[in-house]
Amino acid sequence: MTKFVTRGVLLVALFGGAVLLTTGCGKTDPTPAKDEKVSKDKDKDKEKVKPKDGEDDHSGWWCKPHGIPEEECSMCSDEYAAKCKAKTPPDWCEKHDRADSQCFICHPEHQEKFAAKYRAKYGTEPPPIKLPKK
Ligand SMILES: [Zn+2]
Ligand SMILES: [Zn+2]
Repeated sequence: MTKFVTRGVLLVALFGGAVLLTTGCGKTDPTPAKDEKVSKDKDKDKEKVKPKDGEDDHSGWWCKPHGIPEEECSMCSDEYAAKCKAKTPPDWCEKHDRADSQCFICHPEHQEKFAAKYRAKYGTEPPPIKLPKK
C-alpha cells in the first residue's frame, strides 16, 4: 500500500513537472526564437547574395550600374569614351558626360539595345539600373 502511494505521488510529481516544463518552454521560447530564426535567415540570404555577386562572371563583362558591357561603357572605360568622342560627328552627350548612344537619359530606347546583348549572353534580364534625373 505504501509502495503504491509513493509511486502515485512520484508519477504525479513527474507528470506535473513535465507539464510545467513543457508549458513553460512552450510559452517563453517559440516567439522570440522564431523572430531570431527569421532575422538570421534574412541575414543568411543577404550573405548568400553578396558572394554570388563577387563570384558572378557577369561582373567582368557587364557594367551593372550603367547597364552596358564593361569594355564599351563610356562612363567606365576612358578608352571607349575617347573613341566615341573621336567619331564624326562625336558620339558624346556633353550634358551627361557619356556616349550619346549610351545616354539612356536622353535616349531611353538605347537601354534596350544593350539589354538585348545581355539577354543574348545570359538568357536573363539585365540587373536594373538607376538612371539619374534629366
Ligand atoms: Zn560603366
Ligand atoms: Zn544625355
